[in-house]
Amino acid sequence: KSVVHRICSGQVILDLSSSVKELVENSLDAGATSIEISLKDFGEESFKIIDNGCGISPNNFKVLALKHHTSKIADFPDLQSLTTFGFRGEALSSLCALGKLTVETRTKNESVASHLTFDHSGLLTCEKKTARPIGTTVTVEKLFSTLPVRGKEFSRNIRREYGKLVSLLNAYALIAKGVRIVCTNTTGKNTKSVVIKTQGSNSMKDNIITVLGNNIFTCLEPLSISISDSCEVEGFLSKPGQGSGRKLGDKQFFFVNGRPVDMPKISKLVNELYKTSSSKQYPIMVMNFIVPTRAYDVNVTPDKRKIFFSDEGSLMRSLRESIEKIYSPSHC
Ligand code: ADP
Ligand code: MG
Repeated sequence: KSVVHRICSGQVILDLSSSVKELVENSLDAGATSIEISLKDFGEESFKIIDNGCGISPNNFKVLALKHHTSKIADFPDLQSLTTFGFRGEALSSLCALGKLTVETRTKNESVASHLTFDHSGLLTCEKKTARPIGTTVTVEKLFSTLPVRGKEFSRNIRREYGKLVSLLNAYALIAKGVRIVCTNTTGKNTKSVVIKTQGSNSMKDNIITVLGNNIFTCLEPLSISISDSCEVEGFLSKPGQGSGRKLGDKQFFFVNGRPVDMPKISKLVNELYKTSSSKQYPIMVMNFIVPTRAYDVNVTPDKRKIFFSDEGSLMRSLRESIEKIYSPSHC
């Protein structure tokens, strides 16, 4: 059973960034206003997500890391929205199977926190009391150590995995309103560096200035497109000729209802429209698609980063029309 579980887990948790993504989303789901991501050796040794969310109630400790345990089903009115958000109770159980999971947590109903350790099959092996403010800390040590081949590959590619993670955390830092996001990395000789640090502002403008810098912000213009009655795109886009992206995908961030996703087709479309208007560099994009949950499906890939719109054709057409207007010569 456990081998099958490890192989399947390898599909849910594909790499460092999908692991951290699951944990950050758990913190957001728990209503956290502060999320700290602390890496050791770029995540190779360990990663830790510390939040000030609602915490986990002691009733849930035993089942917490078992496959398909989720506390979130009751929050959703119908199965459609449930499958769309992909709350499947798989992240913690997968992480257990792939590395060493510990959790420290405290809800408002407890005066002390609990420190929990789990084995690779998700069983709670040790529970003790500890001091901690309300919230949750999830630590994963030695990701992929249970899969030797994958583990070697992980170590070999750690800088690339780390780069992908930083860009994902930048995406959260841009979109998460009122949530302070800090990421630090501690390397061998205990030198700790701050990778990302936001104030938890309520405006995307402030977040862009913090994450991308004021120089970049001044070269952007706000974007607000109404695709249909129920679909809108909000964000910021490079002004004509003022893009400073170094390559395709550089500083291009896409979200659906505030959750980071990959949108290679839309990236390509905007790049093309930008090029016909002007210079050699790439446009910077921060685009949040606000759509009803019924209009898309995020569950096509295990890490939920690819999404499918049910009416992609008309979305692409409207987007092209609106962005052509921005990048057509008469606009400037
Ligand atoms: P899911 O998010 O799909 O429910 P997970 O495996 O990611 O499944 O998490 C299992 C359960 O653990 C969640 O439903 C939630 O009750 C609890 N949980 C995990 N992380 C946190 C956190 N940071 N704060 C509060 N509860 C958490
Ligand atoms: Mg989760």
